[in-house]
Formats: sequence, C-alpha cells, structure tokens
Amino acid sequence: MGLTQAAFYLHVPFCRRKCPYCDFYSVPFADTRKIPEKAFLAALKKEVELHAEEVSSYQFVTFYVGGGTPSLLSAGFYEELFDFLAKRLNFEPFEATIEANPSSLNEEKLISYRKIFNRISIGAQSFKDKGLLALGRLHTVFQVKKAFLRARAAGFENISLDLIYGWPGQQKEDLVEELDILLSLGPEHVSCYELTLEPETRMYEWYQKGKLNMPSEEEIVSFYWLIHDFLTQQGFEHYEISNYARRDYECRHNLFYWEARPYLGLGPAAASFLDSRRIKNVEDLNLYLEPLEKGVLPPHEEEILDAEKRFREAVILGLRKLKGINVAEYERRFGFNVFSYYGESLSRLLDQGLLEYCQGYLRLSKRGILLANVVARELV
Ligand code: SF4
Repeated sequence: MGLTQAAFYLHVPFCRRKCPYCDFYSVPFADTRKIPEKAFLAALKKEVELHAEEVSSYQFVTFYVGGGTPSLLSAGFYEELFDFLAKRLNFEPFEATIEANPSSLNEEKLISYRKIFNRISIGAQSFKDKGLLALGRLHTVFQVKKAFLRARAAGFENISLDLIYGWPGQQKEDLVEELDILLSLGPEHVSCYELTLEPETRMYEWYQKGKLNMPSEEEIVSFYWLIHDFLTQQGFEHYEISNYARRDYECRHNLFYWEARPYLGLGPAAASFLDSRRIKNVEDLNLYLEPLEKGVLPPHEEEILDAEKRFREAVILGLRKLKGINVAEYERRFGFNVFSYYGESLSRLLDQGLLEYCQGYLRLSKRGILLANVVARELV
C-alpha cells in the first residue's frame, strides 16, 4: 500500500520577550544564550522515535517550523534535526518553512537556514514604527527591510510576510503606507491577521482598563477590504481568509490543515491529527522535556473523532479557503453530502447570503468571509 502524504510541524517554544498581544505558547528568554537548545533537540529526537512506528505509513511532504521564535535557534540545530528526521521517518519535504523574527536574523544564519529551508515567513507585523511600538515588538521597520533583503540575497525565492492590522491608533493612511512598503519588497506570500485581544494577554488587560484606542468595527472591516483590494489588484490571489499568494506560492503546509489532511506536530503545545486521532502536547516546557529525558511521551490530550465530527470539522476548515469545498470530493472522502447532512441550517446560511454554491463548490460569500465564525458555529 502506498504512503499517505502528511505535513510535519515543529513548535519552537522560545522567544526573547512575550509580546503583549500574544497567546501562543512560548517561554521568554531575555538572554537567548540560556535557551536549552541541546536538551530541546534531544527531547525532539526522542519524541520522533516514540512516534516513528505509528507514522510509518505517512510520507511527510511539508515541514513547518513555527513558534515561538524559531529563528532564535542555530542552523546547526535544524541541520541535525533534519538529518535525523530523514533517517527515522519518510521525510522528504518539498516545502520547508521557517518562521523568523526580523530582530534575530543575520546574514550568516540566513545562508545556513537556506540550506535546509526553501521558504521563510518573516514576522514583520507592521511597516510603521509606531505600529510596531503599539504591538510591543522588538524590531523596527528598518530591520524588517534588512531581514527581507538579506533573506532574498541568501537565496530564499519564497518569502512570506506577516502583517497585523487593527493595532491601537491605526488609521487608514497608515495601512495604505504599510501596504506600499510591503509591496515594494516583493514577497511571494502575505498573511494578514486582525489584531485580536485574547483574554490572559497584557493587551487585553490594557483594553479592559480603557488604555487602548482600538479601531472601530467599521474601520476593521474597511481595513480588511482595503488589504484585499490592494493585494488582489497587485496580482495576489486571496486564497484563504487571511492569506494571499502569488500564483503557485500558496503555503502548501497550511493547505494540509485547511484540507483536513493528516499532520504530525512535535514540541510543547504542538497538535497532531492522524487517522481520526487528535493529539495536543502539554503547554509547558519542563513537563515536555522531563518525560522525554526518561524516554516517555510528554503529557498530552487525545481525542478520537468519529466520522461525523471529522466531516463537520473538515467542512469548517475547508470553508476557510476562498475557493470553498468541492461537494462531490467531500462526499467521496467523508461519506456525507453537505446538503443532505446539514439540510435546513445550510439552506438558511445560503438564504442569508453567508454561503454560496457555485459550480460544485460551496464557499463563503463576500459577506460571509467576515462572518466566518457565525457560519462555523452553525455548522460545527
Ligand atoms: S515573538 Fe511571536 S510567538 Fe513570541 S511572544 Fe511575540 S508574537 Fe508571541
């Protein structure tokens, strides 16, 4: 029997400082020399060993290192890990991405990273220094530009830039200027996220105390469409709610998630989805490292999804792609027809103009894109 294609994700749980809006799992190391790189590598290798048999029927075709701040780790770390993965698993990624922070990149590191990765995602976040300040980032716009040009010079032909919109005090004119700068750099891919204030973050607390001048909901909607119009007019395809790509530069790794295909995630807080099984590692560096030192898997949550739940999740994930879901293909893959399965509730979403059906595809309408959460709540 042939191997099933799958994605491989690695979560690097280290940052220099916690950004005030961030709720991803990461541990701040003001002195990055204290990052336990060796112990982390040893733990990862052990984790791979412990999963090796169970994932022997998968061929890992994408590799994505996210975080945290993966660019805090040395190229040697990734070289050793990559070699190990190639020996222990069916690991031949055609797309290998590293997320990078502009303040932790230099020429030498980029040249070494390029030997392992063929795609880099630079966390620019804003192209205005006052935006970076409002977001509590450590870098400047100058550093973003420098990092981008150095990545290009190091041979990265596939560069993605992250942009956060809706930061405190942001005006339409700021966003227009930001998009101009972003475009002038010439990325192949752009991810644009609305700043969301997650409970348990410092920014949320500041907001609760009335210390933040957040853009209104109407402004946020207008920012979303401004970005859409700007990037699509410049030849980018808006292929997922928050993502834009030049032709053939969609993030193949993330497409695995949106197409409900299997993935293995390693590292603290990483999630996997394999054979209807969802696994989520503990969000604690020590609780992750210690058991692995003794040769056992770290604490994790596990859930088995039945056929209906898998299907419903796949529908919600698939609707994130602007192309939508191919109804016949979903029926073949999951054994359910979207229309007969959802019946009334789907008709209602179609009548309300949140979804549309066109040439075999069910997709979010223009109005539905910004109400994707409402649609997801109905279909979950
Ligand atoms: S660098 Fe990224 S992962 Fe780290 S705290 Fe900031 S936003 Fe979160």
